[in-house]
Amino acid sequence: MAVTADIVVVGGGVIGTAIAWQAAAAGRDVVLVDPGTGESASLVAAGMLAPVSESLFGETALLALNLLAVRRFPQFADELEEATGTQVGLRREGTLAVAYDPGDYAALARLTEFRRSLGLGAQSLDARACRSLEPFLAPDVRGGFLFAGDYSVDNRRYASALSRAAALTGVRIVPGRVTAVLTADGAAPEVRLAGAGVPDSLSCAAVVVCAGWWSGGIEGLPAGVSQAVRPVKGQLLRLRLPAAMPPVLHYTIRATVRGTDVYLVPRADGELVVGATSEERGDDRTVTAGAVHDLLRDAMSVLPVTGELTLAETCAGLRPGTLDNGPIVGVAGDGLVIATGHYRNGILLSAATADAVVALLTGHAPAPEWAAFSPERFAAPHRPAAVRP
Ligand SMILES: Cc1cc2nc3c(=O)[nH]c(=O)nc-3n(C[C@H](O)[C@H](O)[C@H](O)COP(=O)(O)OP(=O)(O)OC[C@H]3O[C@@H](n4cnc5c(N)ncnc54)[C@H](O)[C@@H]3O)c2cc1C
Repeated sequence: MAVTADIVVVGGGVIGTAIAWQAAAAGRDVVLVDPGTGESASLVAAGMLAPVSESLFGETALLALNLLAVRRFPQFADELEEATGTQVGLRREGTLAVAYDPGDYAALARLTEFRRSLGLGAQSLDARACRSLEPFLAPDVRGGFLFAGDYSVDNRRYASALSRAAALTGVRIVPGRVTAVLTADGAAPEVRLAGAGVPDSLSCAAVVVCAGWWSGGIEGLPAGVSQAVRPVKGQLLRLRLPAAMPPVLHYTIRATVRGTDVYLVPRADGELVVGATSEERGDDRTVTAGAVHDLLRDAMSVLPVTGELTLAETCAGLRPGTLDNGPIVGVAGDGLVIATGHYRNGILLSAATADAVVALLTGHAPAPEWAAFSPERFAAPHRPAAVRP
């Protein structure tokens, strides 16, 4: 049985649903394929929209892209709320980065100096000023920096609103797993599927592969692209306020505690997200006692009241990491577009990615910030360097 569509989107995380919604809104007939097993990183994420407090030495092209993404996000969220009548929990209070001991402060100050050298704003705050913004911070906190333009969104509300917007705009959902994408010069792409009760194949004018870290396992992608994507495990906790306890945080807190990073992201409903580990463990989503212990220990060091909250959920997800930490977005063959590898910024980059992909699908150029992130940089098969005896 074959089904046809203008565009087949492979993967229903935030990247795939944002693209499907926007492509359908641009008048295309869209099918979105996802097995619906709830494994997506998008449902685990913390939802920080944090280009500045996430920026690291040596990632200036990625920083420019992330800044484009955070500028775009509020308008996209407004459009989504209007389309669905759902609040997505965008918070614009900003991010307060704090340091626990003198070594942590020195490291944070060095990184902030680098960020300022790129023209990014950061307000220095001593320990007292940090506590006047967040009274529940521990007395040990040495000081920190306020990054006013780093926001957050409730990623689960956001993901669910995207799915609803896609459905309302006419996107057809196929609950299967794509096994292969067959493209040939001048021929329409064919998408092969597995799964009970789903078509064997779909034919379309264009296919967009956005299956997170699983993208690399889909047959038919350029070998170098497949090999560039890997899972990076992140474990994270969701805490809730006991009844009658007022909110304990206003800003997103990013803390460096004895050399380790932990973040605490407040939600309007009182949830506090505490994350996250970063582990190279392949396809493993188990939650470990050690990770829960370490995250709680570090969170309680900077915000002792954390210990009084309810541990509502522990979870683990797989970030789609790449060889250079940048996303892979662009044309990779006749009728084949890739949009994956968003690593630790996929929620932030989702709206900007949808813009870029819809531009490509409708014959326009994406924003110049995307130039460094085309699949071409990985197109040649990646071969490990030879080992000489
Ligand atoms: C602990 C943690 C914290 C994070 N925090 C943040 C944050 O604060 N801010 C931020 O911006 N980002 C954050 N991220 C990163 C972000 O979650 C990811 O970059 C983003 O969710 C990637 O979205 P995606 O749609 O590409 O992939 P996913 O969300 O993983 O979705 C991929 C989808 O593809 C489907 N799929 C898989 N194989 C197939 C197939 N063969 N055929 C069809 N469908 C398939 C899956 O079912 C899934 O629904 C975090 C990630 C983790 C794990």
